[in-house]
Amino acid sequence: MHTILLVDDSELELKALASILQKENYTIVTTSDGSQVIPLLKSRKIDLILLDIIMPGKSGLELLVDIKTRPDFETLPVIMVTARTDAANVKAALDSGAIDYIRKPFEELEIIARVRSALRIKDYQERLQYLSTHDGLTGLLNHVSALMSYESLYREAQKNSIPFALCMLDIDHFKSINDKYGHAVGDKLLQQLGILIHNHFSANGFAGRYGGDEFLIVLRNFSKEMAISSAEAFRKHIASKKWDTIIPVLQITISIGVSSYSSARYFEGHQQLIEDADTALYAAKNNGRNKVVAQE
Ligand code: GH3
Ligand code: MG
Repeated sequence: MHTILLVDDSELELKALASILQKENYTIVTTSDGSQVIPLLKSRKIDLILLDIIMPGKSGLELLVDIKTRPDFETLPVIMVTARTDAANVKAALDSGAIDYIRKPFEELEIIARVRSALRIKDYQERLQYLSTHDGLTGLLNHVSALMSYESLYREAQKNSIPFALCMLDIDHFKSINDKYGHAVGDKLLQQLGILIHNHFSANGFAGRYGGDEFLIVLRNFSKEMAISSAEAFRKHIASKKWDTIIPVLQITISIGVSSYSSARYFEGHQQLIEDADTALYAAKNNGRNKVVAQE
C-alpha cells in the first residue's frame, strides 16, 4: 500500500488528482502549502510526491532541490506537475532529481501509468538497497554495512562523549555441526541464531553477520558491565536451548568477546574496539568456550 503526497496551490487540481489516484487504492495526502512538505515528510511515510512546478512563494523547483539535498529524502521519487510546455522547466526538474513529469491538463490514464512506473522503480530500488546491505541468510546487516553503521556510531560517540559497547559473538565448534549434520542444518542454525540475536540485542543497537559463524553486535549507551550482563544472559539462553525444530538432539554454545568505548579512554581509532573484542573472543575460545570475556 503506497502513500502519495500531492502538492499544488490549486485546491481544484488537488481534488482532481486525488480522485484519480484514490480510485487506484493509493493513500493520498495533500497540501497546497509548499512550506508543509518537509514537515509532512518528517511526520509520515510518503512513497511518492507529485509536485506542482508553479506555486506562489517557494516554487516547485526550489522545493524539489530542498527535498533532494536532504539525505533522508534524496531517494524519494518526485514527479513534477507542470502546465508549462517549455522544455527548460522539464530539464531543470529532471536535472535536479525529479523522476518524471506530468503535464496539465491531466490525462487520467497517463497519470496512473506514470505513478505506477515511478512506484515500481522505487520498490525495486528499495529491494536492491536491502539486498546490498543485509545478509541473505540471517537478515541481519551484512559485513560492510555493519561496519559502516559501527563507524558512524563511533564518530557520533566520540563527538558527544557517549559510551557504547561492542560484542563479537561466535558459535563454538560450528564446523563439527556442519560435518555431523550437513551444511543445510548449519544454515538453518545460523538463520535461527540470527533471529535470536536480533530479538535479544537490537532494541539497544544493531547486529550484523560479520562473517561465517561470527556476529558483530553494537550496543548504544551501554557500559562494559551492561554489555557483559546482556551477553552473559544470551550465552546462557543459547547454552540451555534445544534446537529441536532443526534436529531433536541439537545443542550449541557460543563465545562472546566484549569491548567498550568510553570518552575517558584513549583510542587509536574505531578499529581498536573491534580488535579488542576479537582479542576477548579469542581468550573466551582459549579458556574453554561457552564464555563471555571482556577486554581488560
Ligand atoms: P570455534 O569454536 O573455534 O569457533 O570453531 P568453529 O568450528 O566454529 O570455527 P571455524 O572458524 O574453524 O569454522 C567456522 C565454520 O563455519 C567453517 C565453515 O564451514 C562454517 N560456515 C561459514 N559460513 C557458513 C554458512 O554460511 N553456512 C554454513 N552451514 N556453514 C558456514
Ligand atoms: Mg566458530
